Amino acid sequence: MLNSRDFIGCNAPYNEADFVLFGAPFDSTASFRPGSRFAAQEMRTQSVGMETYSPYQDKDMEDLKVFDAGDLQLSIGNTEMALDQVESFTAQILQDRMRPAMVGGEHLVTLGAVRAVYKHYPDLHVIHFDAHADMRDDYLGAALSHATVMRRVWDLLGDGRIYQFGVRSGDRSEFLWGRGRIHTQKFNLAGLEGIAEKLGAKPVYFTFDLDVLDPSVFPGTGNPEAGGACFGEVMDAIKLLSPLNIVGFDIVELSPPYDQSGISTAAACKLLRECLLYFSAPFTK
Ligand code: MN
Ligand code: MN
Repeated sequence: MLNSRDFIGCNAPYNEADFVLFGAPFDSTASFRPGSRFAAQEMRTQSVGMETYSPYQDKDMEDLKVFDAGDLQLSIGNTEMALDQVESFTAQILQDRMRPAMVGGEHLVTLGAVRAVYKHYPDLHVIHFDAHADMRDDYLGAALSHATVMRRVWDLLGDGRIYQFGVRSGDRSEFLWGRGRIHTQKFNLAGLEGIAEKLGAKPVYFTFDLDVLDPSVFPGTGNPEAGGACFGEVMDAIKLLSPLNIVGFDIVELSPPYDQSGISTAAACKLLRECLLYFSAPFTK
């Protein structure tokens, strides 16, 4: 573990934590602009500029039990090894009766976490926010890529378990293949409330590719895609997830080298705070 400053308000002892926050600094398969390996450390640094209190929820990070484990030391350049490392760390968190909250990294790191979560919860369902379908069977011949990650998740979960929202980019064959297999809400986050009601108490993993946001809100990412959600829409959507049985989540694809103004990192920090506050059990001191 490379431990530096914790993400703001995430200083509970490991053994008492509800969520274990960790960085997965891997961007070896990024298809366009790499740099997401720096996201978690940059978010920790910038998080001091943000309040621990959320006026949206009238809740405070100080009242949660979140442990920041730092960044995993991943084998950059060896995709299988890196995914194994993410999987084994996630499995340890689950075995210790806590929940993983992972900050990427590129989106492929989700596969490592979902492999572990799926073993723990065979009835797992996945809610996926993204500009991109990520449903290719291979990308330039590689089965493991941030462009194929949700197809690899489907390999595990099968039909009817993946619900994606905000998708506005992909190969024609991805959209055709997905029909009848996965739920795809194109362009926006509509219909999430109905899906949340349908899922009820089922175990849900939430994977949040930040490029679902419009690049005017969130320019600091590897594959910016015009026509995305505004910040308020995404905040409303996360609120709809709060009654669900979220057994783990991730936030991926922030690329600090493309965030010269720091606004994307600030948005990512705020969204991470809101996710932790919505998904954590309240803690009585
Ligand atoms: Mn993605
Ligand atoms: Mn994406």
